[in-house]
Amino acid sequence: MTTATVTRSQELFDRARAVVPGGVNSPVRAFGAVGGTPTFMSSGDGAWLTDADGRRYLDLVCSWGPLILGHRHPAVTEAVLAAVRQGTSFGTPTEGEVTLAEEITRRVAPVEMVRLVSSGTEATMSAIRLARGFTGRRKIVKFAGCYHGHVDALLVQAGSGIATLALPDSPGVTGATAEDTIVLPYNDLAAVAATFAAAGDEIAAVITEAAPGNMGVVPPAPGFNAGVRELCTRHGALLISDEVMTGFRAAAAGHWELDGAVEGWQPDLLTFGKVMGGGFPAAAFGGRADVMARLAPDGPVYQAGTLSGNPVATAAGLATLQACTPQVYAHLNRTADAVGNLVTAALTAHGVAHRVQRAGTLFSVFFTDAPVTDYAAARATETFRYPPFFHTLLDRGVYLPPSPFESWFVSAAHDDKALDLLASALPAAARAAAAAGDHS
Ligand SMILES: *Cc1c(COP(=O)(O)O)cnc(C)c1O
Repeated sequence: MTTATVTRSQELFDRARAVVPGGVNSPVRAFGAVGGTPTFMSSGDGAWLTDADGRRYLDLVCSWGPLILGHRHPAVTEAVLAAVRQGTSFGTPTEGEVTLAEEITRRVAPVEMVRLVSSGTEATMSAIRLARGFTGRRKIVKFAGCYHGHVDALLVQAGSGIATLALPDSPGVTGATAEDTIVLPYNDLAAVAATFAAAGDEIAAVITEAAPGNMGVVPPAPGFNAGVRELCTRHGALLISDEVMTGFRAAAAGHWELDGAVEGWQPDLLTFGKVMGGGFPAAAFGGRADVMARLAPDGPVYQAGTLSGNPVATAAGLATLQACTPQVYAHLNRTADAVGNLVTAALTAHGVAHRVQRAGTLFSVFFTDAPVTDYAAARATETFRYPPFFHTLLDRGVYLPPSPFESWFVSAAHDDKALDLLASALPAAARAAAAAGDHS
C-alpha cells in the first residue's frame, strides 16, 4: 500500500519522537501492540473525536474512562469555565474540595473520610503507605494483571501498558521494593489463604482492582472479593479496593455497589480517579475514619500535594458526578449490551471465537472461547487477531483502545448514531480478525 500524503498525525509523531520518549506521554497511547502511527486527536464532541487531519471517529476509549458523559458535556464545560474565572489555584483549602469530598462519601458508604490527590497512581501509592503506617507491617499482596498505577511496589506483573508491552517487570524498581510485594494469580482464593497462612502477620494490605479492567475486563468470581475481605480481617491486614477505573463507572457507587453492598462487606480503603476528575487530574483515596486519621496533619503518615484538590479539577469532577444520574448508568449498561451484541454478531458471522466480558457497565472483548478468569488466561488469548481488527475499525472511523488488554469505554453521549456507525464498520473488522494468522 502506498500513501501519497504524509498525514498530520505522522508529522506530529515524528516531531514528538525527537523530544518525547516514544513520542507519547503515556505508553498506552503508543500503537506498539497494533502497529502504525498513533492518531493525534485535536477535538472531541459527545461520543466523537476529530483528529489532526480532520477525520472523525466514534470514541470507544473516552480518555481511558474519565469521560463518562462524553466530550465537552455542557455542565462540565460551564463548571470549569466558572472555576477558571475565579482563579486556577490558591494553595489553600477551598469550598469545592469539601463539596467533592462530601459527594464521594455520600455515594460510597465505606468511605468515611477522603483525601484528594492528582492521579490514580498517587492515590494507590498513598493508600499503600497509609496501610503500612497503620499496621506497622511491610508486605503488600497484589494480583497478577491488576494495574494500580506506576507505583514502584505495585509495578510487578501489572496489567495495562505493562501487559501491552509484555514487560515482566520494570527496571528501576529495586529488589528491596519488589521483595515486599507478593503477587498472586487473580481469582485464586486458595492462594490468598495459603499466603496468609504462611506470612499473615507480615501483610499490611491486599490491594486489588474492585473488578480488574487493565488486563481486559476480568470480573471477580462470585465470593472472591468477599473471601479476600474475610482473610484480611482474620489476619489484621487492610483490604484496599482500587476503584480508580470502576469508581462511579461500573455503577453509581463503583463496583462495590455490585458485590460488597449486596453481600454486606466493606473495604478498609478505596482509591478513585478517572471519572471523579471529569477529564482533569483529580483522584482520591479514602475509607475508614480511624485509618484515614493516621494521615498528616492529624497523624504521622505523610502525604501532600501542591495541586491536590485543585479548584478547576474539583469543579470538573463535581459537575461530572452530579450529572451521573441513575439514567446515565442505565444508558451505559444498555450501550455496553448493544456494543457487545454487535461485536458478537459480527465475529460469530465470521467464525471468530471470542468473549465479551463484563463488570457492571465495564466491558472488553477477548479472542478466545474460554472464560478469562486471570492474567495467564488473558495472555493466552488470540491477541494476534487484535491488530487487524483494530486497524480495520480505525480506517472506518471507530477508535478502540490500541491494545487487546484494555477495557472499552462508552459514555452517556453514545447514541443510536454511534451504534449505527459501529454496526456498519464491524463486518469488515470481523473478516480481518478471522483472516489473521498467528505470526508470534
Ligand atoms: C488508571 C488506573 C490507575 C492509575 O491512575 P493514573 O491516574 O493513570 O495514575 C490505578 N489503578 C487503576 C485500577 C487504574 O485503572
